[in-house]
Amino acid sequence: MFDKILIANRGEIALRINRACKEMGIATVAVHSTADADAMHVRLADESVCIGPPPAAQSYLNIPAIISACEITGAQAIHPGYGFLSENARFAEIVKEHSIAFIGPDPAHIRLMGDKIAAKQAVKEVGIPTVPGSDGAVGSDLDAAQIAEGIGYPVLIKATAGGGGRGMKVAQKPSDLSLALTTARAEAKTAFGNDAVYMEKYLQKPRHIEVQVLADATGRVIHLGERDCSLQRRHQKVWEEAGSPALNAAQREEIGGVVTHALEKLGYLGAGTVEFLYEDGHFYFIEMNTRLQVEHPVSEAITGIDIVREQIRIASGAPLEIEQKDVTFSGHSIECRINAENAFTFQPSPGLITQFHTPGGLGVRFDSAIYSGYRIPPYYDSLAGKLIVHGRSRNECLMRLRRALDELVVGGVETTIPLFQMLVREHDILNGDYNIHWLEHFLAKKGA
Ligand code: ADP
Repeated sequence: MFDKILIANRGEIALRINRACKEMGIATVAVHSTADADAMHVRLADESVCIGPPPAAQSYLNIPAIISACEITGAQAIHPGYGFLSENARFAEIVKEHSIAFIGPDPAHIRLMGDKIAAKQAVKEVGIPTVPGSDGAVGSDLDAAQIAEGIGYPVLIKATAGGGGRGMKVAQKPSDLSLALTTARAEAKTAFGNDAVYMEKYLQKPRHIEVQVLADATGRVIHLGERDCSLQRRHQKVWEEAGSPALNAAQREEIGGVVTHALEKLGYLGAGTVEFLYEDGHFYFIEMNTRLQVEHPVSEAITGIDIVREQIRIASGAPLEIEQKDVTFSGHSIECRINAENAFTFQPSPGLITQFHTPGGLGVRFDSAIYSGYRIPPYYDSLAGKLIVHGRSRNECLMRLRRALDELVVGGVETTIPLFQMLVREHDILNGDYNIHWLEHFLAKKGA
């Protein structure tokens, strides 16, 4: 096992990883930009190294500075968290070239899943169902028109290098296609420096359901059930649940089995998430995330398994301690992303936290790196904390979430708390009756 791990991230996820390390008796190294010198992740780590000025490109994405920090402190492994360098295959390779362990999958798998077309093809070959669509990148507008006719309208144009919902455009009918292609290509070029796009059937009212997996070096792959992340705004997740209100235990076992079997065939290593759209009883693969996800705590809540601890154990070469039959699912869990932004316009609201009180009690977890007197810097994402609630049933979980939201106080900045206070009282949410468009419609009705 490692003696010392460098955490190449900031915010709540850096604290989350620090916690797992501490519980395993592993020393930690934080890295930070000059804007984060007072940050909680720096205070709680055993050592810290400043890696550059505030812009992420010069600090949290600065590979030479991170490798140097590792070498100076003698850390044996790097945990990349999510975002930043977590899905950068070249980074994972460089880490390994320096004889440092990368806490994540093989760089080849990161690269494969980072190319959406290649990923779709690869998973299809190992038995994962995919969305009907173009076989690869679409060429001329004329070719695209033919492919779209074959798939049937409406169609969705997606960036091959996509991420974060950018470079995605719907064409409802043939006359929309040309503009959708042009705008998707332009967006993809700006966001990813790559204007290749592909086409998929646009599903009208799907849910977003994803399966969490863990795979070790002996080739064992287990799943920790599914998460329902259908409540989204601009393709960004806002609220996540485990399990999905739409699946029963048999359906969970079935999709979990398909996924674990496929990843065994691919020889996958580490933690990962296979994302699907789910409509009319069918699953359609959309992408695989080769890293820890923001919403991992809801799976931890219902299985009792510490996913970060397992990631670290796997990276050290240890086999999984558990088999699939040992994974049991207990109760229900919901996570709300508390962002420092206006609850309805989603305008970022960085600044000084003047008051801060976290809810407590049975089944309540609050993962955050903020504190009273902390100033949220304007340079990074707006996630201020994650409220994760667990209950024996979905109903108990919702009632607990309602009271936990009422206890939570974050003063000085605007937050998304008022949105969640409304959502936990909405009929459709209480019934689990929503799809990926529900939140957009709700916000439109509220005039947001
Ligand atoms: P990104 O990597 O940009 O996040 P994804 O492929 O994961 O892109 O898709 C993000 C979201 O976009 C999904 O959760 C879903 O809401 C929507 N989406 C993606 N593909 C489709 C599709 N074929 N039909 C309808 N909605 C889709």
